[in-house]
Amino acid sequence: MAYIKLDREALRHNLDQIDRKSEGRFAVVLKDNAYGHGLMEIAQEVSSYGVKRAVVRTRSEAVSIEGLFEYILILSDSPQEDGFYYAINDLQSLKNAPKKASLELKIDTGMHRNGIGMEEIEEALEVVKGRGLKLKGVFTHFRSADELGSELFWQIRNWKQVKERVKKWSQKEGYEPPHFHSANSAALFRAGIAEDEFARVGIALYGYVEFDEVFDMPPLQPVLSLWAKKIATRELLQGQKVGYGGEFEAPSDMRISTYDIGYADGIFRSLKMTKEGKILGRVSMDSIVLEGEKEDICIFDDAKEIARELGTISYEVLVKLSPAIVRH
Ligand SMILES: *Cc1c(COP(=O)(O)O)cnc(C)c1O
Repeated sequence: MAYIKLDREALRHNLDQIDRKSEGRFAVVLKDNAYGHGLMEIAQEVSSYGVKRAVVRTRSEAVSIEGLFEYILILSDSPQEDGFYYAINDLQSLKNAPKKASLELKIDTGMHRNGIGMEEIEEALEVVKGRGLKLKGVFTHFRSADELGSELFWQIRNWKQVKERVKKWSQKEGYEPPHFHSANSAALFRAGIAEDEFARVGIALYGYVEFDEVFDMPPLQPVLSLWAKKIATRELLQGQKVGYGGEFEAPSDMRISTYDIGYADGIFRSLKMTKEGKILGRVSMDSIVLEGEKEDICIFDDAKEIARELGTISYEVLVKLSPAIVRH
């Protein structure tokens, strides 16, 4: 079986970098199977490091890591009265939210994807008051933290204004002020976390930041490497073709091996290279062919290199990895 190796030292190294940069104030983002790394494996390790806050996408992810963290924020699921924190992405969901659920308002400060508009903040706070809801947090997400330009700083200015307005309202109405958070990995390493309670760090935990080249890369280390095992070795004679469509033709006699990984496991069908060397012909559902006869080969140990080859980002390469692959 193909397998994934997770490097504990690299993970701890990244945690040290994030811890220093955020002055100990960060939540780990574990959504989508911890960016393909394995939810339980990563959750246990970061919890034993001492991290108290986690962010996930669904309630079922939250349930499986319950007990490992003091605070778990669920980004997109229906709020329930269960002790988890739920992101509220528009006014209607706020109006429908159960009374005793712990809620966090997502504010749209310029990304225009999810969130309550800046012009709707006071209206939202009135709903909180009118219905006696438990407002625990207010947060936002930046659209251009990883790109050169002033957009991030324009959005941070909007964010500061949001915080002022919410604080003023809490004071006036006698509410305990909610906590505030905004920075993802790129914003943390580019601009810090300003006056927020914490940053929400995803990709940096796993060893990457998708910065434009002009920025200094933080010294992070990839945590995950993907490996495959040999299925069979054969002789391919000069002029013979291998695999679907016979796309690769042997220029001379050669020894080739098949390995037990394919696009069903989450590697891209358009992949041409592995760490070990060139893929001969097409990627099949469950196998690839390479020259040589090594037992185990490394497909990649740097998702960014693969992402560059495929015209995408490290995030996509990682989250596509099948949860069925064994993680060591
Ligand atoms: C995924 C996500 C993050 C983490 O972003 P990274 O770039 O991986 O650090 C933070 N906040 C929200 C709302 C997210 O959806």
